Amino acid sequence: MRRSASFARRFIAGETVAEAIEAARAVEARGMLISLDLLGESVANLAAADAATREYLEVIDAIIASGIERNISVKLTQLGLDVDKASAVDNLRKIMERAAPAGFFVRVDMEQSSYTDVTLEIFETLWGHGCREIGVVLQSALHRSERDLARLNALGARVRLVKGAYKEPKAVAYAKKSDVDAAYARMLKVLITDGHYGAIATHDPAMIALARGWASAAGVTPDRFEFQMLYGIRRDLQSMLMNAGYRVRVYIPFGREWFPYFMRRLGERPANVMFVIRGILRERG
Ligand SMILES: Cc1cc2nc3c(=O)[nH]c(=O)nc-3n(C[C@H](O)[C@H](O)[C@H](O)COP(=O)(O)OP(=O)(O)OC[C@H]3O[C@@H](n4cnc5c(N)ncnc54)[C@H](O)[C@@H]3O)c2cc1C
Repeated sequence: MRRSASFARRFIAGETVAEAIEAARAVEARGMLISLDLLGESVANLAAADAATREYLEVIDAIIASGIERNISVKLTQLGLDVDKASAVDNLRKIMERAAPAGFFVRVDMEQSSYTDVTLEIFETLWGHGCREIGVVLQSALHRSERDLARLNALGARVRLVKGAYKEPKAVAYAKKSDVDAAYARMLKVLITDGHYGAIATHDPAMIALARGWASAAGVTPDRFEFQMLYGIRRDLQSMLMNAGYRVRVYIPFGREWFPYFMRRLGERPANVMFVIRGILRERG
């Protein structure tokens, strides 16, 4: 990563796939699982979507060559969803065609609420065509998500549960954080009891404690779900869970298009802004 951007390194593994693989190896050496995410979103034309798809295919090949775990996360707007839905689906298919036979699991990240319907529709279409090496994400911030979870559980799909990283209109999302958290807790219980290898993606110790309690009360053993956290966030919690015998997957973002991801992480925690400013001042000093 360029020196001018090295402050972003806390949350982003680097700009190249080689750096991401190095970060993944370090995470695996700590006994944890990984998912690599080539950063990029909201591409504005089909050429950019095709380029992102080609880059993803190269990432898949690099992962295979490296011997790290075969797990990636992708965003549909990176594959051209804003430009042309059919092309985005086509691009996702190309990725699946390379990834699935090689034993990858591909998680389709969830973006703003304006994409929820189309993302789930595309997921369900691929699922309907027999594609099983793919999973989705639901955001507890959205009013609709509890219904979506019931539907996806009935389908047998693998769901990653998050609180939601985007600013959403009041008409579709809870405005108060306490309501987002309460919805997360309700969905967590359903995911643990009715889900299919659910992914509990949060750094919130209260939610993690609830998950552990409910799983053990329901006799759901730690091999039937996993915790997920973001690269560079709450490494202490990651290790604590791993030492307690749980599966922990670290989501490792990398690539040149890191700015929007980085800004979302800053927005989540005011203390991060100070952390970054201090880092920049130190670099300049
Ligand atoms: C593996 C993974 C995948 C994700 N995928 C998606 C997705 O596809 N779509 C989507 O909308 N969102 C996604 N998210 C982001 C998610 O929606 C939240 O925005 C983010 O995880 C913060 O919420 P939290 O559950 O950690 O709880 P919060 O209540 O926000 O935070 C709980 C505690 O976690 C720590 N923490 C949280 N965020 C930060 C941060 N940025 N920096 C430092 N400490 C922090 C703090 O200690 C905080 O007190 C993903 C998150 C994870 C972990």
